[in-house]
Amino acid sequence: MINYTLSDTQKEYSQKAKEFRSEHSDKLLQASRDSVFPRELFEQGVEHGFPGLFIPTEYGGEGLGAIEYALVSEHIGFYQTTYQLARALMVAGTDKQKEKYLPRIAEGKVVGSDDISEPNAGSSLKDIETTAEKDGDEWVINGLKVHVNCAGAADVHHVYTHTDEGLTVFLVEKDNPGMKIGEKDQPIGTRQMPIHDVIYDDCRVPEDQLLGDNGGGYEVFFKTFNFSRIGNASDILGHGKRSLDEAIAWASEREVGDQGTVTEFQGNRWKIAELKTRLRAVEHLRNEAAWRLDQGESAVKHTCMAKLRAGEVALAAIEEAIQLTGAHGLYRDQGFDMAWSDAKTLDVAGGSREIMRNVIADQILD
Ligand SMILES: Cc1cc2nc3c(=O)[nH]c(=O)nc-3n(C[C@H](O)[C@H](O)[C@H](O)COP(=O)(O)OP(=O)(O)OC[C@H]3O[C@@H](n4cnc5c(N)ncnc54)[C@H](O)[C@@H]3O)c2cc1C
Repeated sequence: MINYTLSDTQKEYSQKAKEFRSEHSDKLLQASRDSVFPRELFEQGVEHGFPGLFIPTEYGGEGLGAIEYALVSEHIGFYQTTYQLARALMVAGTDKQKEKYLPRIAEGKVVGSDDISEPNAGSSLKDIETTAEKDGDEWVINGLKVHVNCAGAADVHHVYTHTDEGLTVFLVEKDNPGMKIGEKDQPIGTRQMPIHDVIYDDCRVPEDQLLGDNGGGYEVFFKTFNFSRIGNASDILGHGKRSLDEAIAWASEREVGDQGTVTEFQGNRWKIAELKTRLRAVEHLRNEAAWRLDQGESAVKHTCMAKLRAGEVALAAIEEAIQLTGAHGLYRDQGFDMAWSDAKTLDVAGGSREIMRNVIADQILD
C-alpha cells in the first residue's frame, strides 16, 4: 500500500524545524559567513528534540526514524556531523559506548565529527593512511585528517584508520593530548560547521574506544553513511526549495515597468513549473529512500539516487532563484550565495555525484 500522508509526528517535527530555521535564519547566515559553529542554537534545539531525533528513547532520544530525520534536515543542517556520530554509535557501538555517549548527544552536550578524509584519500577509503597500532591495552593512532567539519567544536571524533586487520574506526575525545586541531580552513560552504585538519600524533586511546570490530570500518561506514546521505540529500533539497520559494515570493511582487510582475512572463512561469516538478521528484526519491530505511532495508541504491538528484536539481533551482530576483538576489544579505555554496559543498562531500553513480550502477549491475 502506498501512503503519501505524513503522520502527525512527522508533520510536527517538520514544522518545528521549519520554524526554528526561520526564527534563527539571520544568526545561521552570520554563522556561515563568519564560519562559527552555532553552539547556542545547537543546544537550543534540545527543547525540540533535534539532537536526539533518531536516538532510541531508552537513551534519552526521540526514538524517531529516517523520515523525521529527512524532514528536519531539510531545514537545519548543522547537526549532520553529530547525527553521523550518533548513527555510527547506534549501528556499531557497544552497550557501554551507547550508554556513555548517546544520552549526552540527545541532551545537546556532545558535538561529533567524522575524521575520514586525508590528503590522499577522499572518495577512496582504501587509500586511508592513518594507522592504529596496538600497544598493550591501548591503540596508538598516527595520521593527518583533512576537511573535517566541526573538528574544533567536536567533543567526540570518530576517526577512520587502518590496523593490520584493515579499516577500523575509533572514538577520540577532544581533550586527548595526542590529537591536535589545525588552523580553521576557508571552504565556500558548510562554513557553520567549521573545517580544520586534525593531526593524530601518537594519539593513545583505550581498547574500549574501538567502534565496531577491528577491521570492521567498511561496515560502520556504509551503515552510517547510507543513512546520513538521506540527511545530506535533504539539506541540499531544503536549500533548493527555500531559495525558489523566496524568489517566487519576491518576483510575484516585483513590477517590471508596465509589463506586470516578473512571474507573469510565460518563460518564468514555465521555469517555476519545471523546477517545482523537479524538486518534487527529488522529494519523492528521498522519501522513498527514508521509508525503505525505516522498513529495515539497506536502501543503498535509493539513498544514493536521492543524493545524486538532490545536488543537480537544488543547484539549478538556486541559480534560477537568483535569475528571477535579478539584482535583489545578487546581494549577500539575501543569502542565495550561501545556499548555493552549501548545496554545492554537500553535492561533493559525503560522496560526490560520480561516487553516487558508481554505487547505483554497482547495485544494479553487480
Ligand atoms: C567543505 C567540505 C566539508 C567536508 N567535510 C568532511 C568531513 O567532515 N569529514 C571528512 O572526512 N571529509 C570531509 N570532506 C571531504 C569530502 O568528503 C571529500 O572532499 C570528497 O569525498 C571528495 O574527495 P576528494 O576531495 O579527495 O576528491 P577525489 O576523491 O580526489 O575526487 C576528485 C574528483 O574525482 C571524482 N572521482 C573520484 N573517484 C572516482 C571514481 N571512482 N569514478 C569517477 N569519478 C571519481 C570525484 O567525484 C571528484 O569529482 C569535506 C570536504 C569539503 C570540501
